[in-house]
Amino acid sequence: MSPEESPAQKPKRNFVVAIDGPAGAGKSTIARHLARHYGLLNLETGAMYRAFALKALRSEVPVNDASALERLAAETDIQLESGETENRVLLDSEDVTGQIRNQTVTDAASRVSIHPAVRASMVKRQQEMATKGGVVMEGRDIGTVVFPDAEVKIFLDAAPEVRGMRRYDQTAQKGTPSAPPEEVIRDLRARDERDRNRADSPLRPATDAFLLDSTNLTLDEVLKEAESAVDRFLAKTSTSLQSQG
Ligand code: C5P
Repeated sequence: MSPEESPAQKPKRNFVVAIDGPAGAGKSTIARHLARHYGLLNLETGAMYRAFALKALRSEVPVNDASALERLAAETDIQLESGETENRVLLDSEDVTGQIRNQTVTDAASRVSIHPAVRASMVKRQQEMATKGGVVMEGRDIGTVVFPDAEVKIFLDAAPEVRGMRRYDQTAQKGTPSAPPEEVIRDLRARDERDRNRADSPLRPATDAFLLDSTNLTLDEVLKEAESAVDRFLAKTSTSLQSQG
């Protein structure tokens, strides 16, 4: 099975797959695969927090100024477009896809996302995005806050060292200069701590999430497990439709 196997960019079905978990757990890879495989839109909510962080940096609004960030969020337009390999991110109509993955924006995204007003504004947009059809949405609070009634919830985790090394390898493969592995792991841990300990929408598995720890699994095994979670839901739905009919 290859992550590239079945091209599907238009949502063909109408259910929500929520994928949550810490940084570097492999959420994007799984989300992209499930979206293609089941004909769903793939939306990365982290890209929205990153785009908003970019706007705050450009506007020189401090990442700890809650009221100024709230005002800024009210006047900011962020759109996500589901693409072949990654989401295209439009910040006030400007394509910022290539500008939101650097260390400065990554750090700022982790900090602006602790503010309830910023989260409320992003969550509203995320909920609106799923009104057009089925989605695989990945983030930190999708199964707990954005779509608490999502049909399928997966919480993807892995040991911090494993996540850090995978992130390091990904960056190295792209030929982009990277911080040493210890620094990458330290940064992931710091972002996780912030996500797990914030008062509003902390990172945690929904009580009805399927917990998938990829520490000792190959990519292929993780993809199969994730597919099984969706297939279980689809099988249940067709059984209940049959019993109604
Ligand atoms: O997923 P990604 O690493 O791109 O997300 C960037 C940051 O945005 C994360 O460090 C996290 O703090 C925040 N985030 C969030 N809630 C989401 C998605 C991302 O708080 N649903």
